[in-house]
Amino acid sequence: MKFVVIGGDAAGMSAASRAKRNNPDLDVTVLEKTMDVSYSACGMPYNIADPERKIEDLVVRQAHVFREKQDINLLTGHCVESIDTANMTVSGTSLHGNTFKFLYDKLLIATGGSPIIPDVEGFDLPGVMALKSLDDGRKIKAYIQFNNVKKVVIIGMGYIALEMCETLRARSIDVDMVKPRTVFLPWMEKELADVVKKEVELNNVNIYLEHQVEKIEGRDRKLHVICSDLSLETDMVLVAIGIKPNSELAARAGLDLGIKNAIAVNKKLQTSNKNIYAAGDCTDAYHVVTGEKAWIPLALRANRAGWAVADNICGKDAKLSGVAGTAVFKVFDLEVARTGLTVGEAKKFGFEPVKVVIKSRSRAHAHPGASTIHVQMVGDTKTGRLLGTQMVGKEGVAHRINAVAVALHNQMTVKDYCQTDLAYAPPFGPTWDPTLTAANQLLKKI
Ligand SMILES: Cc1cc2nc3c(=O)[nH]c(=O)nc-3n(C[C@H](O)[C@H](O)[C@H](O)COP(=O)(O)OP(=O)(O)OC[C@H]3O[C@@H](n4cnc5c(N)ncnc54)[C@H](O)[C@@H]3O)c2cc1C
Repeated sequence: MKFVVIGGDAAGMSAASRAKRNNPDLDVTVLEKTMDVSYSACGMPYNIADPERKIEDLVVRQAHVFREKQDINLLTGHCVESIDTANMTVSGTSLHGNTFKFLYDKLLIATGGSPIIPDVEGFDLPGVMALKSLDDGRKIKAYIQFNNVKKVVIIGMGYIALEMCETLRARSIDVDMVKPRTVFLPWMEKELADVVKKEVELNNVNIYLEHQVEKIEGRDRKLHVICSDLSLETDMVLVAIGIKPNSELAARAGLDLGIKNAIAVNKKLQTSNKNIYAAGDCTDAYHVVTGEKAWIPLALRANRAGWAVADNICGKDAKLSGVAGTAVFKVFDLEVARTGLTVGEAKKFGFEPVKVVIKSRSRAHAHPGASTIHVQMVGDTKTGRLLGTQMVGKEGVAHRINAVAVALHNQMTVKDYCQTDLAYAPPFGPTWDPTLTAANQLLKKI
């Protein structure tokens, strides 16, 4: 059987490797348009922060290892341009300009996402960059070094924008952040979002909310980010306003698209064509709280979906329950995490949400080094279900969110969560874990 994979990063290489482990006789070809495969995109902000590290340190497994040790026909520099579902072939052009065509019995589309670049004057100027692929990271690192960058304007304030703002400050680069919306972190309770905003400002980053970028101009070896009542002079611009799924190839092949134009897949990761699977950032997924489709592009689900595809094409019956939208990032000295729904999201899905916002401690009372943990927890007054949690603090946030994520996967009520036996010792938290304190308070409102 010929298994062809389009895209050689998290979802694609997970699928190719596992398929070969499941069945060493399988004929596996991976077509990757860039020269990079199997790398940690998530590590790029931290790598860029350190001029001594090479960006290639982020490569998890080298292309030659896939070829020589795993017998995978891995072809880099091969961009797939079309899928012929009738003849079961994929074709495209290599970086050398040669055309290629491969037959498949089972196909996996794992094409990821692309940064959104507004169709606005100046976004194509040299020095206006986005961070998605390893090559983007390579270019940004080189640009900072060879252009002696002293100032960067970041357009957008999502998690990549915030991670990069820490990166740039670590390299003593001045940072302005600008975005059109009024709210700093719209998915976060204001009290918690304000803690994050204060941390960013304490690190001498200027935050400009409610400023729509009208154009970027290049003059006198500088870039100028122009808004209606603001002009920011800079050496470099980082565009970090989000990504979109790379689903055009699938759409042209007649496959169904779903939410946010991501490729629609079932729990077995099959598209609307039974011989074609899709996995990772290019696809949608079921949300375990709402039961509806969601598009939440994150690394674990890409790797897991890759594995599930490999199992399914090898005759196993792998079904994914879905995602809870669990995410965490670090910005300066803060850990910021969420799982499940916000109040606004819960209302959209027909819940009758109620929330609490509490402050607790990262270590036991009087234990040295304790800091504040802010928790927002959301529950449903109709069913008593726990719907979501957000947390901010200097320590003990990143892994603590996982307890709530597991509860969401198991559709637990707030009352059930209050009964969970969570670990305690003074260096790690109070006797009542901060999430239990939040749940106890929330229970009074349900
Ligand atoms: C800076 C940064 C930080 C991040 N941090 C985190 C984090 O902390 N936690 C987290 O969970 N997630 C994080 N992510 C997201 C995570 O990296 C992605 O969710 C994950 O890489 C998705 O994997 P994927 O295989 O679906 O897509 P991708 O990694 O995008 O891989 C898709 C591959 O397909 C190739 N391709 C596309 N079209 C074609 C074509 N037509 N022909 C051939 N090849 C093609 C692309 O070149 C690419 O190599 C981060 C992402 C970035 C950019």
